Amino acid sequence: MRIGFIGLGRMGTGMASRLCQAGHEVIVYNRSAQRMQPLLDLGARAAMTIGEACAADVVFTMLADDKALEEVAMGAAGMIEHLAADAVHVSCSTVSVALSARLAHAHGQKRQGFVAAPVFGRPDAAASGKLFMVAAGKREFVDKVMPLFEILGQRTFVVSDAPEKANLVKLSGNFMIATVIESLGEAMSLVEKGGVDRHQYLELLTSTLFNVPIYKNYGGMIADRNFEPAGFAAHLGQKDMRLVLSAAEELKVPLPFANILRDRFLNLAAHGGENLDWSAIGSLASKDSAVEA
Ligand code: NAP
Repeated sequence: MRIGFIGLGRMGTGMASRLCQAGHEVIVYNRSAQRMQPLLDLGARAAMTIGEACAADVVFTMLADDKALEEVAMGAAGMIEHLAADAVHVSCSTVSVALSARLAHAHGQKRQGFVAAPVFGRPDAAASGKLFMVAAGKREFVDKVMPLFEILGQRTFVVSDAPEKANLVKLSGNFMIATVIESLGEAMSLVEKGGVDRHQYLELLTSTLFNVPIYKNYGGMIADRNFEPAGFAAHLGQKDMRLVLSAAEELKVPLPFANILRDRFLNLAAHGGENLDWSAIGSLASKDSAVEA
C-alpha cells in the first residue's frame, strides 16, 4: 500500500519508521525538512509539499495541535485539495472534537475517507509498535486501514463510526493521566515532608495497589525529578486540558479536576516549563509545600 505520512515529530517519526520497516512504500512530509532524514534512511521518499505526500492510498497525520492539523488539511494547498476520492486520511494527532467533526464533513464532501485514530503511548511505544489506537470512522475506511494499525499498535479499539468520538475518548484518557500525575506529586510531597523517602514510597505504591505502568513510569519521573528530555511536552498537555474542557463545556459536563489541571499547566508554563515533560506538573506540589527547601 502506498502511504503518505505528515508530521515527523517525536511520535510521527517512530510511527512512520514502523510503516517503512513493514515494507510499505512511504512518502513523508514534515514542515522542517531536516526531520525527514531518518525516514529517508529507512527507504521512505521525501515529499516537498503536502500535495506530494497526498499521492497515496492512505495519508497519516501526526501533528502538534488543531492549528497545525487545520493548516495541513484545510489550508489552500492542503490535503482536502489533493487527496484522491476514496483515499483515506488517518488523523492520529490529539486534537479537538470540533475539528475532527469538521474534517470528517470536509473530507466527506470530496468523497475522501476520514478516520480519527488518536493514540495512547509515548514515543518509545510509537517506535516499537506498542501504541493503543483509538479509532473511529466509517466501517469501510476503518477496515481499509486496520492492517496498518496492527503495525503501529498492540491493540485497536474502534469506538464509533463518527470520527470525533475517538478524539473525545483520547482527551478523556489524557485528563485521567494528568490527574494521576498531579495526585502522585501531591501524595509524594506529603510523605516526603513527613520524613518518608519518596522512592521507597513509590516502590510501596507500585508493588501493591497501583501496580500499573502509568503510576510506575510517571511516579519514577516525579521521584527522580527527571523531566528532560520531554517524551510528551507540557505545552501539549496544556493543550489537552484546554480541549477536554472545551468538549466538556459543549456537552455540559462539569470537570472540576480538569480546571485544576489546566491551572497546574499554566503554573508550569509561567515558570518556563513548557518544554519539560508534562509529568513536571507533578513537581509543583513539592514546591508549594517547600519540600525542596
Ligand atoms: P512534536 O514532537 O512536538 O511534533 C509535532 C509535529 O507537528 C512536528 O512534525 C511539527 O513540525 C508539526 N507541526 C507543528 N506545528 C505545525 C504547523 N503549524 N504546520 C505543520 N506542521 C506543524 O509532538 P509529538 O509529541 O510528536 O505529538 C504529536 C501529537 O501526538 C500531538 O497532538 C500530541 O498531543 C499527540 N501525542 C503525543 C504523545 C507523546 O507522548 N509525545 C502521545 C500520544 C499522543 P516541525 O518539525 O516543523 O516543528
